[in-house]
Amino acid sequence: MPIFEYRCPHCGKVTEKISRCSEQQIDCPVCGGKAQRVLSVFSSHSSSSVRGVQSHSGCG
Ligand SMILES: [Zn+2]
Repeated sequence: MPIFEYRCPHCGKVTEKISRCSEQQIDCPVCGGKAQRVLSVFSSHSSSSVRGVQSHSGCG
């Protein structure tokens, strides 16, 4: 199962979560805010145009 990282915009807490489906956001365990999903580090060095990788929340 992939591990996703979520960063809370309120307190800056980065939370790792193992999830089958890539949720766009989770509840921050620190302040209870909405932590936004951040991209994985292995794709950060590629500065070319990214297309077709838009994630759809397909686990309804
Ligand atoms: Zn927070």
